[in-house]
Amino acid sequence: MNPILVVFSGGQDSTTCLMQAIAERGAQNVHTLTFAYGQRHALEVQLAETIAAELGVASHKTLAVDWYRDITSNALMDTTTPIAKEEGATTPNTFVEGRNALFLLTAAIYAKSKGILDLMIGVSEADFSGYPDCREVFIRSMNTTLNLAMDCEFHIHAPLQHMTKAEEWALADRLGCLDFIRTRTLTCYEGIPGDGCGKCPACQLRAAGLKTYLASRNA
Ligand code: ZN
Repeated sequence: MNPILVVFSGGQDSTTCLMQAIAERGAQNVHTLTFAYGQRHALEVQLAETIAAELGVASHKTLAVDWYRDITSNALMDTTTPIAKEEGATTPNTFVEGRNALFLLTAAIYAKSKGILDLMIGVSEADFSGYPDCREVFIRSMNTTLNLAMDCEFHIHAPLQHMTKAEEWALADRLGCLDFIRTRTLTCYEGIPGDGCGKCPACQLRAAGLKTYLASRNA
């Protein structure tokens, strides 16, 4: 089984990806990479390390990208900015410019050094809230770019690409980790793990998806 490197934040999306990678390939073939890029909540990075260790992945690396906030600003990194989508804006102010491009390029460089060509990232286009780098067209383009840049055959896996949050919960349930994802991951913009603050856009999206899925399961 080929090894895979999962870009892992400790949130719902990337933890679901990680669970799927482990189910498909076994934890001994799964590596994780977490970026510390000045997110609002350093707890996210710690949670990712804890989860990776608990699931017994082959290796886990946390990489500091601490210069990121020197060149861009957004509500995810700047705790003084309230999270909002301004009237007429194309992207919410939580959008981090170039994040998935930076993460995938960095992940690919690191993966190649370990002889890994499979990369996984938890982007979803169905819940696309105006993030251009979550679109399939970007992921495909980035895959081509990485192959050309390093003259090899990377394969970016984005298993959540066309899933809604409800479908993502269904996948977690099929993988037998719904409760784990629900209680252990951090998606909340206020930095509260599990069901979170319940009020921020990330919590609302996550809770609405769970409600839809549980209603369909129990129907
Ligand atoms: Zn929240």
